[in-house]
Parts: sequence; structure tokens; C-alpha cells
Amino acid sequence: MSASTHGTDLASTSVDWDRVRSDFPLLTRQVHGKPLVYLDSANTGQKPAVVIDAVDDFYRRHNANVSRAVHALGTEATESYEGARRKLAAFFNVRADELVLCSGTTFALNLVAYSWALPRLQPGDAIVLTRMEHHANIVPWQLVAQRTGATIKVADIDARGELDLPALYALLTPEVKLLSLTHVSNVLGTVNPVREICREARRRGIVTAIDGSQAAPHRPVDIAAIGCDFYAFTGHKMCGPTGTGALWARREHLAAMPPFIGGGEMIREVRFEGTVYNDAPHKFEAGTPNIAGFIGLGAAVDYLSALGMAQVEAREQALLEHATQALSAIEGLRIFGQAREKAAVISFLVEGAHAHDLATLLDLEGVAIRSGHHCAHPLMHYFGVPATCRASFAFYNTHEEVDAFVAALHKVRRLLA
Ligand code: PLP
Repeated sequence: MSASTHGTDLASTSVDWDRVRSDFPLLTRQVHGKPLVYLDSANTGQKPAVVIDAVDDFYRRHNANVSRAVHALGTEATESYEGARRKLAAFFNVRADELVLCSGTTFALNLVAYSWALPRLQPGDAIVLTRMEHHANIVPWQLVAQRTGATIKVADIDARGELDLPALYALLTPEVKLLSLTHVSNVLGTVNPVREICREARRRGIVTAIDGSQAAPHRPVDIAAIGCDFYAFTGHKMCGPTGTGALWARREHLAAMPPFIGGGEMIREVRFEGTVYNDAPHKFEAGTPNIAGFIGLGAAVDYLSALGMAQVEAREQALLEHATQALSAIEGLRIFGQAREKAAVISFLVEGAHAHDLATLLDLEGVAIRSGHHCAHPLMHYFGVPATCRASFAFYNTHEEVDAFVAALHKVRRLLA
């Protein structure tokens, strides 16, 4: 990723974070009569007005289907939709024709599972995952394993919530065909050294898939530099609309993979005797896509690029540090995940309080956090808990909100005592 694309050249300049926050209309809301403190951005991110306006403008002025009509609106829709693909490609430092647009990470990983893994794997082969995966990066591989006879091996973590790298590399034996892991844990915030891990896998001839859901919104991501084979991400966590995301894949994989879903848009010629598919990435994009959503995501990428992902990361790290310090001072509060490199996510439990009770009472104070298993049952099992509370921060949060959250936590705790 060039410095200018992600704004790293702006990293030393100051950003007016109050102005940035005012770009997000929803954040002015009240909930239960209290100012909203939204600390659930790992679940889904809030949208700046430019994204909402882009979607609105598409439906008001340009709405038409893509790649089908030669009329002016059809051309405008297609140009804007393909423009969004190009923006995403530049943002992640990859080629636009290697980017399959889809509904999000879940679809993207299933595409790898069904189109790459299913036709290739056989009994005796193995897939390596890690203990900290989201269900979206577990269940598709279980489906593949059931159908192919391949097995799944799991790389474990240590007490800090970091991957045990020597143990992971020891799992990368000759029968392993695929290593699929998350870039950043949605529960622990752990940032995995994916570049080093992909290099080790590649040296052993193992294909790598990275779940970038929690990395893309929070730090500069240069997919080309990571050196993986597949990278999946979701648009709604990076200021974009829901139902948007993409799979980046190396061209040779895209060329060799059969389509996953069939229908219109993905074909060159259809006869009852057989069909000639379109080239990648269109070969994998059957049916009418979420056109307005991707135009919104294109606006989100413009917005994040102008802000600078290095700035975003630095801002969120400051919020994380503040919140971690304040929470660590609360007696009986346990933080899950203390990785040396960590994104702005804090999973925690308070002694004597159920996660859902805490989250429900915090909601009454206007503080939105998530409680539950966070689609990571194996990780919950590892820590021996059914659920945690999770506060996740984004650049549009403020230090005052961190203080309000901590004050609300003290209050709620007294209520539960
Ligand atoms: N992977 C991780 C690490 C996530 O945090 C999420 C969403 O919470 C997903 C995958 C699934 O993303 P989506 O529901 O947008 O497909």
C-alpha cells in the first residue's frame, strides 16, 4: 500500500476528531434518555453521512441494474459499481480483477471452501485453523472436511491470547493443504503476524486464507505485502453498508476455481448443452449484486482513505490504552486477551455478574456493548466461560465516552452487588 493511499504520510498531522465524529449522524442519538455511547463497532460500524448520501443518491438519481442495459442509467450504475471495485482494490493494494465482490466475509470464505477446497481436498489432507476463529472461518471448513474426508487441525493460543507460533508451524506438515486464520481476533483483539505466518506456510507449499474482517476497518492493510492466497473482508465493519464485502484471491486460483453460484451476470454464453463462464471476478458474481451497497462502500473507502488508516489506528490505540487502564483498575474485572499487538477490542467479565445482565444494564445507561459468545464458541471453551462482554472502539469514539462507559460500569456493578 502506498503511503498516500492509506494516508500514512498524514500520520503526524493532527485530526479534528470532534469534526470526524460529527460526520456520523447516528452518534447524536439518545438511548433510554441518555446520550448513546456506541461501543459495538466490532459487530458493525456506524456510517458517515457521505456513505448514507451515496446510497441515497444512487436510488434517487441513478438506479439501474449493472452490466445489462446500454441506456444512460445502466451505464452510470455499472461505472459506479465497477468504480467501487477499483477503489477497494487501491485501498488494499491489489488488482481490481482479483477482487470478487460479495455479501461479506462469510460468503467470501464459503467461496474459498466450495470453489477452491471442495474440488481439491481428499482423505488424508488437512486444514489448519486457529483457536481464535469466528464461526465463519470454522463451519465452512467443517462442511468441506465432511464432504472430502479431510481433517481439521487447530493451532492453539497462550494465556495472553496470542498464537503459539512454534506450535502452529509444527502443525504445518505435508498433508496440510490450507491454513485459514484471522488477521485480528474479534474477541481478543489479537493482531496475528499474518505476513510471517503466510511466508512460513508458503515455504511449505500450503495455501493461506486470511479473515480480514476485524483488520480492514482498523489498520492499514496491504494484501499484496501479506503474501496470502485469499483475503476476505466485510464492508459493514468499515463504514460501509451491510451486505457488502469481498474476497481477494490470486489470479491463478480464480482462473482454476469453478463458479460457486450460477446464474445471470457470471456467464459469457449459455446453451442447454453447456455454459461458457465469464472471466474472474465476474464468474463468481451471479445475479444482481448489492449495487447501492457497493457504491456506499466505495464512498466509505474514500472517507477512510482521506482520514488515513494510520491515523485511524493511532486514534483507536489511544482509546484502547485509556479504556484498558481504566478497566484494569476495577476490582474483580477480568480482561480476556492481552496480546502485545492488539486492536481496540476489550472482552471482559466482572466477578459475580452475568455478561448479559451487565450489557442489559449498561444499555439502560446508553452504553451499547455486546455480550455473548461472539461467534467464537471454541474460544469461549478455551477460557471456560459461556460468554463475555465486549467493548469495541472505533475512531469516532471519544475519551469522554470511555469515561462514561467506565462510570456506567461502576454504577451497574453496584446495582448487581
Ligand atoms: N470473521 C470475523 C473475525 C468477524 O468478526 C465477523 C463478523 O463479526 C465475521 C467473520 C463475519 O462477517 P460477516 O457476518 O459480515 O460475514
